[in-house]
Amino acid sequence: MVRFRWGVVAVVIGGLALSACGSSSGNSASSKPKGACPTSAVPVVVSVDQWGDIVDQLAGDCGNVTTIFKSSSADPHDYEPTPADNAKFTGAKLVVENGLDYDPWVDKAVATLDTKPVVVNGGEVVGLENGDNPHIWYGPDYVYKIADTVTAKLKQLEPKAASYFDARNAKWRTSMAPYDAEIAKIKPAAAGKTYGATEGIFDYMAEAVGLTNKTPDGYQRATANESDPAPGDVNDFEQALADGSMTVLIYNTQTSGAIPEQVRSKAEASKVPVVNVTESVPPKFSTFEAWQVSQLKDLAKALGA
Ligand SMILES: [Zn+2]
Repeated sequence: MVRFRWGVVAVVIGGLALSACGSSSGNSASSKPKGACPTSAVPVVVSVDQWGDIVDQLAGDCGNVTTIFKSSSADPHDYEPTPADNAKFTGAKLVVENGLDYDPWVDKAVATLDTKPVVVNGGEVVGLENGDNPHIWYGPDYVYKIADTVTAKLKQLEPKAASYFDARNAKWRTSMAPYDAEIAKIKPAAAGKTYGATEGIFDYMAEAVGLTNKTPDGYQRATANESDPAPGDVNDFEQALADGSMTVLIYNTQTSGAIPEQVRSKAEASKVPVVNVTESVPPKFSTFEAWQVSQLKDLAKALGA
C-alpha cells in the first residue's frame, strides 16, 4: 500500500518536471556543512521523536536530522506516513528506527529508495524481537546501546568527523548525568516496591529501578494487543489497588479511555500515588533527558525517595 502511494508520488513529481530526480535539493535531508563540523553533515532521518533529540545531539553540526513523527497528541502505534513523510527519506545516509514493529513504515519507505541508507534498528541493536515490548527508549541500557550504535554509524559514514562524533557522544552522556542520578536515587526506594500500569510503556524503566510489576496478566496482555481488558481483568486491577498490592500506579496520559480512567480513580480512592508518563515527548520538553528526568522525579516522589 505504501509502495503504491510512493509510486503515485514519484509520477506526480515527474509530471511537475522537477530536475535532478533523487537529488537532495529542496529536501530537509541535505548535506551542507555547518558550524563546528569539519566535513559535510550527514543527512539523517529518525522515525519518532523519542529518538529524534538523542540522534540530533549525537550528530550535532555534522548531521542534518529530520524526525518524522513528533506528536504526543496522537498514537504512534497507529501512525501512517504521508507521501510527504516518505519523501523525507530521499537522500538520507542514515536512518534510525525504533523497530519491534513500532514503526514498520520506515522499512517500507527505505525499500523504495534507489540509494540505500545505513539503517539503525533499535530493537535489533538491543537483541529483542517483534512481539517484545517495543517501548525500548524507556530502558536506560537500551538507550545508551542504541546511542553508541548511532555514533559508530555516523563515524563510518563520515570518518573525517570521527573525533567530532566521539566528542558529541561524550557531551551527550554528560548531559544525561541527571537521568542516571535520578535512576540511582530511585533504586533504594524502589526495593521491595511494586507497581501497576495502565499500559506497559514504562516497564523497562520500572525494571531498571527494581520495581516489581503487579499489573494483572490479563490486563497486560489486552493492552499490549491494543484491545480492551475483560471486566474480570479490570476488577483484578482495582482489587490490587484497593488491597495495597501496588505501591504506585503508572498512568499513560497519552492514550486514555474509560478503563484507564476507572483504574486511576480507584488508585486515587485507595490513596495509591499515580505517576503520569507519556509514550512520546510532550512539546514542553526540548530534550529526551528533561522529559525522562521530570517523570523520574515524579516516581521518586511517589516512592518517597
Ligand atoms: Zn506504545
